[in-house]
Amino acid sequence: MPKGKIEIKIFERTVMIQLIRGFKDILPGETECWQHIEKQAIALFEAFGFKEIRIPVLERTELFARSIGENTDIVEKEMYTFADRDGGLITLRPEATATIVRAYIQHKLYAADPVQKFFTIGPMFRRERPQKGRYRQFYQINAEVFGIASALIDAELIFMLDALLKRLDVADVLPHINSLGCPACRPIFRNALSAFLDGLAPRLCEDCQRRRDRNPLRVLDCKATGCREALAGAPAIGDHLCADCRSDFDLVQRCLGDLGVDFVVDSRLVRGLDYYVRTTFEIQTGALGAQSAVAGGGRYDGLVQALGGPAMPATGFAIGFDRLAEIVGKNRAHWALAPELYLAAMGDAARSLAFQWHCALGLAGMRVDMDMDSHSLKAMLKRADRLQARHVVIIGDNEMAAGKALVRDMRTKNQETIPIEGIIDRLLAIARSQLQPQPQPQP
Ligand code: AMP
Repeated sequence: MPKGKIEIKIFERTVMIQLIRGFKDILPGETECWQHIEKQAIALFEAFGFKEIRIPVLERTELFARSIGENTDIVEKEMYTFADRDGGLITLRPEATATIVRAYIQHKLYAADPVQKFFTIGPMFRRERPQKGRYRQFYQINAEVFGIASALIDAELIFMLDALLKRLDVADVLPHINSLGCPACRPIFRNALSAFLDGLAPRLCEDCQRRRDRNPLRVLDCKATGCREALAGAPAIGDHLCADCRSDFDLVQRCLGDLGVDFVVDSRLVRGLDYYVRTTFEIQTGALGAQSAVAGGGRYDGLVQALGGPAMPATGFAIGFDRLAEIVGKNRAHWALAPELYLAAMGDAARSLAFQWHCALGLAGMRVDMDMDSHSLKAMLKRADRLQARHVVIIGDNEMAAGKALVRDMRTKNQETIPIEGIIDRLLAIARSQLQPQPQPQP
């Protein structure tokens, strides 16, 4: 081959390019449900003083390795990590907390007021084994609070989560809560657990054999039947909490009780990330199959300092958006918004006029659609029907000559003739007087 020429291979075979395994498209018809969830979440979070923070999806790998913990499943085997062109390692974020902590420190957001409440919504990436409810790109809605040591804020977070799920008509919501203790009392529990696990080694699964030395707490939430049986008599962290952790956890429970939030104390709940201390929680719902956790979170008081910031209490949660959307999506038969008005024009002149109306009505905020190509009236009405348009405006040469247009109510099939003169205001008035009620959740 002559020097400097690039060989181009032409494949004769047509290659169908498809989604990467574990990734998914969220299509119109679903996105309306996602937007509904987002609106409800944002309204509730803002009422409680949370402000939106938008953060990058890429960070230096060390940030996740140091915060999530080197011996966690996420860091050991699930991160999408690659070398940047300058040779440094970067990672697609597997979770948002570490990045928010990085931003809080980097921009010294604590300087004006150490108390900061943030929320963020966006994609996370973990190379897990894909299955229903478990994806490699999935979305989370995160809320994080800095600067509040009191357990009242843990109770607020759990209350807010519980309230959001109830507002979204998620059935069968049950927060599971636990305290993981603090650097003073957790090592004592860890030793007691390690001693217990020593006697069980042969009965544990392969992963737990590894976790036993490096991260024995993780053995507690292993889902393998053999491990669950072997752990029947395992020591409970609740029996090893120091006085401060005990009263902190009591306060969370008392507050939730006062607020009427049902919950269970689950001494096996340890969560997969190393940074948690004291109150941790997970919201489970019977509305999901095997992947029953729809949200999880907890306190991570040491993390801000560990990442180079001041000593600062912190706590937060992440909602699994995909799982939540799967549940909420079933509450309505249709999520796609129907046009309020469909314009069916026959002939070039009528179509140009209808196009003017289309743009004016869209600008005025009406959901409007029109047939821009030349189709028969029958075909246009069929499409309007399929889109579930509430009204159709019919205009052709005859109507134009008479200075009138027809408006058909697609539900009642009643038809009225209205003057072209002043039609925009008239159509807006019709739409306003017949505001479509939103579809109600199916029982
Ligand atoms: P975590 O960040 O692991 O505490 O997870 C918080 C929530 O995110 C979980 O309760 C799930 O609802 C959701 N989640 C975690 N991993 C995945 C995944 N691979 N696919 C879908 N949702 C996930």
